[in-house]
Amino acid sequence: MKTGLYIHIPFCQQKCLYCDFPSYDNITHLLQPYVAALCQEISGWGGVLSGTLIDTIYIGGGTPTLLPADTLKVILNKVHESFSIDEAAEFSVEANPGTTNQEKLLVLKSGGVNRISFGVQTFSDALLKSIGRIHSAEQAVRSVKEAQDAGFSNINLDLMYGLPGQSCKDLEASIQKAMKLDITHISAYGLKVEEGTPFAAMDQKGTLILPDEVEDEEMYTFTTEYLPQHGFNRYEISNFSKAGYECRHNLKYWRYQPYIGVGAAAHSFLQKERLSNISSVPQYIKCIQSGKPPIELRENLSTKVAMAEYIFLALRTVQGLSILEFQELFKRGFYLEYGDIVSELLQKKLIAVKENRIKLTVLGMKYGNVVFREFLPE
Ligand code: SF4
Repeated sequence: MKTGLYIHIPFCQQKCLYCDFPSYDNITHLLQPYVAALCQEISGWGGVLSGTLIDTIYIGGGTPTLLPADTLKVILNKVHESFSIDEAAEFSVEANPGTTNQEKLLVLKSGGVNRISFGVQTFSDALLKSIGRIHSAEQAVRSVKEAQDAGFSNINLDLMYGLPGQSCKDLEASIQKAMKLDITHISAYGLKVEEGTPFAAMDQKGTLILPDEVEDEEMYTFTTEYLPQHGFNRYEISNFSKAGYECRHNLKYWRYQPYIGVGAAAHSFLQKERLSNISSVPQYIKCIQSGKPPIELRENLSTKVAMAEYIFLALRTVQGLSILEFQELFKRGFYLEYGDIVSELLQKKLIAVKENRIKLTVLGMKYGNVVFREFLPE
């Protein structure tokens, strides 16, 4: 089966106040040893997967475009040298506005990258400042245009709602501005206050003033209604695209297809087995330098856990879950396992069943976590 490849770049110029991703703004001195270790891990996986075609690649972070052009080139060359890559592969790179330039864009383009995902979040300068982003709205527009001038036509913008001080009008303005930029994809995420972040500390002190529930709901409803009405189909809870521009790499996650992850904190999923790399960057480098695999955790998923994961990942998508596919994969009767849960969720109008598929309803999309929780083994 074709496989996806994720490459993690854990460097950021400045940590955003809401971010709990494995990314750091104080380890620039580790950049070169990290890239050397990363390339070694890529080579290693290349050997293991010889004969397997890679059909989606995603370089994420962190901020991959913080790396200098020649360093990006080293990584891209290593990827091409190590793997058999499908001719029609989707190759995405995450970028932050203000960290790209013509040289880097040309390196990415000639290295086979065909999709760029910009972390824009909002086009309001005041809001960008309040969440600790390094760029301005004007820089975001410029970065998208420069990417388009360099030949990238498949562009995603990440946008956020529920930000401190954000109104539905602000969100509306940001979405409308995004759509004027001739992009193909929008990921729209609601802010979550994650443990250990500066926002969590502010929240505890009572200094983080977030939109209230009604405003939050208004923003969610606006986003999920406005985008599909303007040509961006919702294909997953938080993802909207023009027809044919769904992110194929992310679809792999939701469709329970195999992928490998390289770099600190990256995960690999080989269907029944999940591997997690060491998340500490210095330890990741040390481990690779001493010739050991950088794997911190190797889990053999029990059938119960695998079934639950399969279900809630599939339910995230608008296509939902195919009962026949589930039964084929796990050799278990879906209704025998989950009949009671399905009846209850149907009654609550959170799911709908049609032609052997189960999908979240509009209400279910909003309260996805309530649905997913039901399928988790005790
Ligand atoms: S740029 Fe992205 S990864 Fe880096 S701190 Fe901000 S949200 Fe986190």
